[in-house]
Amino acid sequence: METLGIAKRLDEEAKGRIKIWPAKSNRASSLGRPCIRYHVLRRTRWNEMRAHDLGLQRVFDEGVAQEKIVLQRLMAIGVEVLEQQRAFRVPPRCQGCGHFRDMFQTTAACPECGTDDWYDYQITGHIDGMVDDGMGYHIPLEIKSMSPWAFNTLYSAEDLVETMLAGPPHHQTYPPQLLLYMKFTGKPRGAWLFKEKLAGRHHDPVIYLSPHEHIIEGLLDKARVINDHIEQKTEPDPINDYSICSACGFNHICLPGHEGKQAIMDAELEWYVDEKRKREDSIRDVKAEIRALEDEIKERTKGREEMIISGKYRCVPRTVNVKPREGYSYTKYEFQNATE
Ligand code: SF4
Ligand SMILES: [Zn+2]
Repeated sequence: METLGIAKRLDEEAKGRIKIWPAKSNRASSLGRPCIRYHVLRRTRWNEMRAHDLGLQRVFDEGVAQEKIVLQRLMAIGVEVLEQQRAFRVPPRCQGCGHFRDMFQTTAACPECGTDDWYDYQITGHIDGMVDDGMGYHIPLEIKSMSPWAFNTLYSAEDLVETMLAGPPHHQTYPPQLLLYMKFTGKPRGAWLFKEKLAGRHHDPVIYLSPHEHIIEGLLDKARVINDHIEQKTEPDPINDYSICSACGFNHICLPGHEGKQAIMDAELEWYVDEKRKREDSIRDVKAEIRALEDEIKERTKGREEMIISGKYRCVPRTVNVKPREGYSYTKYEFQNATE
């Protein structure tokens, strides 16, 4: 088909921006990924990571564009998003008492226990912004655009954090990211602003830090394990979980024989395939029921020549001659709604 060639140029431009950036710290936005080996390799062998493909770059671009649209809409309704893309770092922690170092602290010793032994988790990140929570406090806000399926799932979730943590891999990274921001900006509450990409629906659920402190501790422990590996120049064993490894940029290193076969992870596709199959199964059942009903109707009308009346239906049997076969005919029974 003849085209203007613009779509091709757009793809080429997007392809030109595909790049793997070195990771010098543990990123809050990806710390929810389950594979420790991934986090270690991301920092030590980042230049061997296979770049994502054009399809994923388009998805990333779409997310960035959606975020800009959401911010414009917020501005239009007078919701100020402050400190956009503010960088943050998890502060060092006292090894004596677990106290996190205050940014205004000028002394080397911990003000709580006097210990001079601080641990740096090397966790950094960015916050989409801070927003007024309606009670005069500014709390972290993360904007996430998503498919109708993801939106419906998260919209109707009874326990949002649990649903995310049990969901597709990219959903699993959402709570760790926001909770770390909340914890280390000293905010007891945080919020997401979900944008459904197809119909443009929005949802802005608020979560609280206190029931989720254990998740933060788990993430800090995880960062420490990663840091230890990097310091000792060791690499954890591959997890060999195909559902995760198949979409990982290091699978050519971890899974022998996997070279050149990197798969694209589309966790939501499973749902669509499942739903299609369920409906196909139900159609099959319905078709079987229809066939059984047809057999029953045939059985009850066979050989009848009089008009049949049944409730609101009536049927006048009519003889149909089959043209090519002289002398052959059959009786057709068509029920019509007698009340119409
Ligand atoms: S391929 Fe699998 S084991 Fe290797 S880093 Fe990626 S997720 Fe971890
Ligand atoms: Zn201390």
